Amino acid sequence: MQLRSRLARKHEERKILVADDDALTRRLLEKTLQQAGYEVVVAENGRKALEFLSSAEGPRLALLDWLMPGLNGVEVCREIRRRTEFPYIYIILLTSKTSKVDVVHGLEAGADDYITKPCDAEELKARLRSGERILKLEDKLTYDALHDPLTQLPNRSFFLERLMLCVSWGMLHPDYKFAVLSVDMDRFKVVNDSLGITAGDWLLVQIAERLLGSIRRDDAILRTAEVGGMAGGLAEVGLVARVGGDKFTILLDNIRNASEGIRVAERIQKSIQAPFDVDGQTVFTTASVGIAFSGTGYSAAEDMLGDANTAMARAKTLGKARYEMCDPSMHATAAGRFRLETDLRLATEKREFLVHYQPIVSLIDFRITGFEALVRWQRPGFGLVMPGGFISAAEDTGLILWIGEWILQEACRQIRAWNEQFPCSPRFTMAVNISAKQFAQANLVSQVARVLSETGLAPETLRLELTESVTMRDEERTTRILSELRDLGVRLCIDDFGTGYSSLSYLRRFALDILKIDRSFVTDMLNNSESHEIVKTILSLGKNLRMKVVAEGVETLEQMTLLKSLGCEFAQGYLFSRPLDSAAVERTLAESQANSYTLPQESAVNLVAPLK
Ligand code: C2E
Ligand code: MG
Ligand code: MG
Repeated sequence: MQLRSRLARKHEERKILVADDDALTRRLLEKTLQQAGYEVVVAENGRKALEFLSSAEGPRLALLDWLMPGLNGVEVCREIRRRTEFPYIYIILLTSKTSKVDVVHGLEAGADDYITKPCDAEELKARLRSGERILKLEDKLTYDALHDPLTQLPNRSFFLERLMLCVSWGMLHPDYKFAVLSVDMDRFKVVNDSLGITAGDWLLVQIAERLLGSIRRDDAILRTAEVGGMAGGLAEVGLVARVGGDKFTILLDNIRNASEGIRVAERIQKSIQAPFDVDGQTVFTTASVGIAFSGTGYSAAEDMLGDANTAMARAKTLGKARYEMCDPSMHATAAGRFRLETDLRLATEKREFLVHYQPIVSLIDFRITGFEALVRWQRPGFGLVMPGGFISAAEDTGLILWIGEWILQEACRQIRAWNEQFPCSPRFTMAVNISAKQFAQANLVSQVARVLSETGLAPETLRLELTESVTMRDEERTTRILSELRDLGVRLCIDDFGTGYSSLSYLRRFALDILKIDRSFVTDMLNNSESHEIVKTILSLGKNLRMKVVAEGVETLEQMTLLKSLGCEFAQGYLFSRPLDSAAVERTLAESQANSYTLPQESAVNLVAPLK
């Protein structure tokens, strides 16, 4: 397959290859050509010459000595002409042969010209100038064949070539995602009919500019190639092409999910809706957009473009000025996700997050020893949304960094206040969940240090909860960050312990303080001997490593009794209390005995009934 769009190397750099086995000739030619303003690459044999000419950045002008050991100039010439995927290379043979037969032989092999040795500098430069004229023409032809003359955007062939590359890459790399948007102007014919074709053309040029503007890379629209697109193959994030009349197509390369396609579609519609000025007249238009997403598993570029077109036609039928996904069932999911991400962004501005606090109790005397901060989102129209409904979107969009910092601040402020208002010994602790993205950010340690100093919190009362997957990624860095955090005096806790693929040695190496037994083992331990064993093992592991162990998700008296009998010291779960808002926590603390704070659960009946 010929990939002209990708391989079109321009001759602008005036690069030239000189291949000659004779060092003196090489040096002379190099000097002459450099003086004439060329960037010269030299090769001492035919094989080297072929290598240079085959490389993506290789020269498009070549001076090849006829007689060289190994591959001679004529053979190199023949090989270059055989490879039709190359852009045109202008070849001049250097020869001491002057007989007609030899010259014909060289030209037949594909050389464009020849020059006899010893070369006359002026003649050489003149012949090169003529070669350059041909290359310029060739470049123009290639460009014209791949671009729309009106807007200068890539045309349909260019677009399909690029799309084909994405499709092939996608077949090999299932995680690589991309989308095709088919964009068609609504009622464009009216503009042409009423204002004339020239005005219509002028409008198309402006539309092209706005389309380019709406795919411009900014972190809000698209991830960058850094996350591993086509391994440096295609650096651009998007490509806009004009495929005919008022029809455009857009390729979004290396995106996260289908909702990014929708985000771009929305941007396009917004930008196209704004008035255009055509020859002093204000013109309004709208666009219908169809989106095909790579997740559907395409094996042909044409199919994907076809699907995007079909979706666009449906957008037209459904009332124009809208977008449709090619797969209607995907539409609902992607649109939902898009709304979720958009609302999340707004939520950070409108401060719609709250923190609830779940008490952690001692199984020895049932006193409250601390709390875990759990985020909630008061989403308009959806009520109180639990973390399961938005944390992953917050991670994907990077908003988790903002949310995480806010929670850390809020939870630290809160526990400091409670420890003042309800003094006890030891003081209440506060556990805060740290997500993978937060852990990966460069300034986590300084952020924690700042929050501690701003809130005046005793560092040992703060517990950072990390999951195994977070800590396992990059051992060296993890060790460093964890020890820096410990130096601040905060305590470190492994959350959902037992669900990851931990090697036990890391527990010691990372110097962690607390293990939290995952809820699934606690839930199952009474009727599943394996879970029972795991809980026992975690408890003895904790004991041996002198780590505190907290059992998560304790819901029944039986579970609590068993945990207690196995020597588990701390627990958290609906049996004791659901996560509470701060007012409810304060009521509970105020109602219990000073210095011995317990939950209102004197009778077994209360213990079994989850608290609201
Ligand atoms: P987690 O850190 O393991 O938190 C414990 C989860 O178990 C909480 O769910 C809690 O409400 C729930 N839970 C506690 N006791 C029981 C019980 O007895 N039965 C049952 N069925 N569930 C119980 P929640 O609040 O929905 O949070 C879910 C997860 O979301 C958390 O798991 C944590 O991984 C994450 N998360 C919550 N808040 C934050 C946050 O502020 N930042 C980050 N990065 N993640 C958070
Ligand atoms: Mg947790
Ligand atoms: Mg947990």
